[in-house]
Amino acid sequence: MFWKRRRDEPAGEPAEDQRPPEDEAPTDDDAIANDGPWEPDPADFEPDAAWGAAGAPPTESAAEPNLEPIFLDAPEPTPVLPATEPAGSLDHGLERTRGGFMSRLRGFLVGDDGTGPSWDDVEETLIAGDVGAALAMDVVENARRRRDPGGAEAAVRAELASLLVEREPGWEPRPSVAGGPAILLIVGVNGTGKTTTIGKLAARYAGEGRHVLLAAADTFRAAAIDQLMIWADRAGVQIVSHAPGADPGAVVYDALDAAIARGADLVIADTAGRLHTKSNLMDELTKIRRIIDKRLPGATPETFFVLDATTGQNGLQQAKAFHEAVGLTGVVLTKLDSTAKGGIVFAIEHDLGVPVRFVGVGEQAGDLLPFDPEAFVAALFG
Ligand code: GDP
Repeated sequence: MFWKRRRDEPAGEPAEDQRPPEDEAPTDDDAIANDGPWEPDPADFEPDAAWGAAGAPPTESAAEPNLEPIFLDAPEPTPVLPATEPAGSLDHGLERTRGGFMSRLRGFLVGDDGTGPSWDDVEETLIAGDVGAALAMDVVENARRRRDPGGAEAAVRAELASLLVEREPGWEPRPSVAGGPAILLIVGVNGTGKTTTIGKLAARYAGEGRHVLLAAADTFRAAAIDQLMIWADRAGVQIVSHAPGADPGAVVYDALDAAIARGADLVIADTAGRLHTKSNLMDELTKIRRIIDKRLPGATPETFFVLDATTGQNGLQQAKAFHEAVGLTGVVLTKLDSTAKGGIVFAIEHDLGVPVRFVGVGEQAGDLLPFDPEAFVAALFG
C-alpha cells in the first residue's frame, strides 16, 4: 500500500490519484497537532556535504531530491510475534558470563579462608570481565574497606550493585509531548544489533497492544531499510521509509505525520550507523531533532545507544563519543548471551551515567529483556 507525496507538491493535499484510501486518510479527530500544511525549510533538506565522500549512499546521490514512495505499510498493526515468541531469560543470557569471569571471581571470593582473598586476583578478574581498570581498582579498594560481615563476596557484590544507576527497572514509552507519540531514536555503530533491537522493541510494544510505527531513517544503507522492513512485517507494525540516500529528517517528519494521523503511541527511528566525523553525527541528529520539534513543538524524544557487549571497552568508547555528541538517555546492551564478560554493564552505567534500559540475549524477537539492576546482580552471582 503506497501513499506518495512529492516534494514539489503542497504537503497538505496529495494529488487526487495519490490520496490514501478514505479509511486511512487523517481526520480532524486524528490530528493532534495540526499546525497546517508543512512548509519545508530548505536548510533542513540541503544535501549533506559529507555524504558525497566515503559513505555515499549506494543507489542515489544525496543531492538528488527524494521523490520516491513514502509509505510502505502493513495494513493495521497485527502483533503476531509476541504471542508465539517465547521470551528469553536473563539466566540464559548470562550463562557465558557466569561460566566466564564470574566463575573465576567467585572462586577467589568464596575461597576466602578468613585471611582475605587475593585482592589482586579479584581486581584482575574484574578487569578481564570488562569492568574496566580504574573501576575495578575502586571496587576492590572499597570492598576491602567495607569489612562486610557477609565476607568478601558480599562486599564485592554490594560495591558492584552501587555502580548501577538507581531507577525503576525497564522503560516505558511516554508521550514526547502532550497527546503525541513517544519518540525513540536508536543510534549506534553498524553491526551492533541496531535493526534487530528496533524489531524486538516493535514486537514488544505491539504485543502490549500499542500502536508502533517505525521510521527507516538510516537511509545510508539500502540493506538497513530492507532489513527494517522485514522486522516491521514480522512484528506487524507500520513503517515509513524513503529511497536509499534520502534525507533522514524527511523520513522522520513523514513518520511523525503518519503517527499523528493514525494515533500511534510510539515512533522508533533507526538512524545512520556511522558518520565519519563526530560533527557529521551531531549535525544529523540535531537536524532530526529540529525536525521533530518542527512537527511536534516541545517534543522530548529519547535517544538509545545500541552497544554490542562483545566489543567490551571499545564499545564503551563508542558510547562515550555518541553521548558527547548527541546526549544519550539510555543504552541497549546487545549480545549479552555471546560474551563471557558481562561486567561491561557496570562500566557503562558508572562511566557514562546513562542507564542500561534493555539487554539483548539472543536473535529472536523475544530476546530483549528490560534491564533490572537488582535482578542482574542477583543473576550474576547465581
Ligand atoms: P545493525 O547493523 O546494527 O543493524 O545490526 P543487526 O541488527 O543487523 O545485527 C547484527 C547481527 O547481530 C545479526 O546477526 C543479529 O541477529 C545479531 N544480534 C543482534 N542482537 C543480538 C543479541 O542480543 N544476541 C545475539 N546472539 N545476536 C544478536
